[in-house]
Amino acid sequence: MTRILSSSIFLLILFVSCSDRKPAAEMSDDELKSYASELAQKFIIVDGHIDLPYALVEKDYIAGVHSLDTLISTGKGEFDHTRAVKGGLDAPFMSIYIPIEYQSHPDMGKNLADSLINLVKTIAKGLPEKFALANSPDEIEKNTREGKISLPMGMENGAPVGNDLNNLDYFFEQGIRYITLTHNKDNQICDASRDDTHTWGGLSPFGREVVARMNNLGIMVDISHVDDSTFYEAIELSKAPVIASHSSCRAFAPLVMRDMTDDMIRKLGEKDGVIMINYYTAFLDSAVGNNTRRLAALMKEKGLKPEDSLGKAFEAEFREANPVKTDIQTVVNHIDHVVKLAGIDHVGIGSDYDGVDGNLPNGLEDVSKYPNLIFALLKRGYSEEDIAKICSGNVFRVWRRVEEVAKASR
Ligand SMILES: [Zn+2]
Repeated sequence: MTRILSSSIFLLILFVSCSDRKPAAEMSDDELKSYASELAQKFIIVDGHIDLPYALVEKDYIAGVHSLDTLISTGKGEFDHTRAVKGGLDAPFMSIYIPIEYQSHPDMGKNLADSLINLVKTIAKGLPEKFALANSPDEIEKNTREGKISLPMGMENGAPVGNDLNNLDYFFEQGIRYITLTHNKDNQICDASRDDTHTWGGLSPFGREVVARMNNLGIMVDISHVDDSTFYEAIELSKAPVIASHSSCRAFAPLVMRDMTDDMIRKLGEKDGVIMINYYTAFLDSAVGNNTRRLAALMKEKGLKPEDSLGKAFEAEFREANPVKTDIQTVVNHIDHVVKLAGIDHVGIGSDYDGVDGNLPNGLEDVSKYPNLIFALLKRGYSEEDIAKICSGNVFRVWRRVEEVAKASR
C-alpha cells in the first residue's frame, strides 16, 4: 500500500513538473531567461579551456598563492568562484599553458608545467569546500553532486614532454587529461597553424609515438592550434576520437588558420570528436582581425606606439570609427555551423577565458554568463537535450571513449 501510494505521489510530482512548463517557443524572453538559468544549474557545464593558472602567475591580479581566498571573488579577470557558481560552470579545464619560448628548453617547460599543476592542486587543497581536482567525467559528476567546482587539467603545448615518452606517463599521473600538441610554433611533436616553416609536414616521427602513447594512457589528443596537416595526420592515427579544446570555424574568419575548416569539422565529426567553440573575437569574426591589422599598419605609418598616450588616443578613435560587434549571436552562429556540418553531437564550449585579454563577445564577458548562451540557444530552437550535449554531454562521450581505448590497450 505504502509503495503504491509513494509511486502515485512520484508520478504526480513528475506530471506536475513536466506539465507546468510551456514549450520554449511560447515563452516570453523573461520566462526563457529564467529557464536558461535553470538549465545552466541543472546541466553540468564543462569549459574546454580557461587560462586561469597562467593568468594567476603572470598577471598579478591575485597576490600570491597564500591569498587563495581571493579566488572566491576576485572581481578581476574572467574567473572566480562566485561568478562560476552564478554561471552554472561545473568543470573548467585549467590550462597548463607553456609559452613557445620553452620549446627549446623542455626541462624549464617541465618545471613551469609542474608549478602550474601544483597551483591548481593548491587551489583544490586550499578551498576544499569549493573546488576539487577531477581526472574523469565520473569524478566531475561526483564533485558536482557535492556542490564543488571541478578543476580538470589540460596542457597547452606538448613542449614539456621533451623527447621522452615517459614524461607522458608522468603528466598523466599528475592529472593532465588532454594535451594540445603544440602552441603557435612548430615543436618537437608537430607543426603549428601559425608557423609557415612546416618543419614536419604534420606530426614528427616522435609526435606519432606521442599520439599512440596518449591513446594508451587515456590523454585526449587536442588539435587546437595545430596546422591542418597535423590535424589530418593525428585524426587518422588516433585510435580514440580527438578534441579541439578551444577552436572556432574558419568559415567566419578565413585568415585565421587556427580555426577549423568545414572539411576538418566534418572529419572531426565522422571520427566522433568534438570542437569546443572559442570566444576570442578575432577567431569568431574576420572583421575583428582585419581591423586589428589595419590599425597596426596605420600606427606604424604614423610612427605611433600602442603604449604611448598619442597611440592610445588614435586607437580609441579608430575603434570608434570602425566598430565590430561580436556578441552571443556570433558564437551561436559558430555552433550552428558545426551542427550543420557534423551534427549536434560534435560541439561544445571552450571559451579561452583569461587567455584573450578581455577580447570577448558582448554578453559573454566572464564565467557568470553561460546562461546568456543557453538563452540564445533556446531562442534558436535548440532543445534541452541539445543543450545538455553542448554543455558537457559531447565532451564526456569523447572523454569516456578515450578512457575505454586506453583500458583496452592495457
Ligand atoms: Zn590557446
